[in-house]
Amino acid sequence: MRDYDQKFGFGFEGAIAYDAPPDYGPLGDLKPTFRAKVENILIELEQQGWEPRVHEDALRTPAQQAAKQAAGVSKTLNSAHLKGYGADIIDRRWAWGGPARSNDFRFWHELGAAAGRQQVDWGLAMWGWDPAHVEMPGWGTLP
Ligand SMILES: [Zn+2]
Repeated sequence: MRDYDQKFGFGFEGAIAYDAPPDYGPLGDLKPTFRAKVENILIELEQQGWEPRVHEDALRTPAQQAAKQAAGVSKTLNSAHLKGYGADIIDRRWAWGGPARSNDFRFWHELGAAAGRQQVDWGLAMWGWDPAHVEMPGWGTLP
């Protein structure tokens, strides 16, 4: 049972769903081992008062990744997003706008800390940019 099943009253026979589960985005696109880590990150951020979600294009085709690179929002064609081992986690209120334009925005750093606790790599720590990005270490050799 996932933590949010317990938190929101799902998963128990006869339980009353008194609140909708949070819209965490396309978690089903992520590989199960990575998804479990991402869910823990989302829950932790939510408990800190953020409204986190995985941005919609977590899983990309090579053509979609090429378009990202051409648009200048990605710097690689060889991305963890192609294999379900990459996700961009944003606070739904801002995404990459407003205060989230700055790499100093507190959400990004709390995301990075939560990612570290899940042994997941964080874009800003790896590359000095891409603060929303998290990925599974060693994803290139994982099935
Ligand atoms: Zn990303």
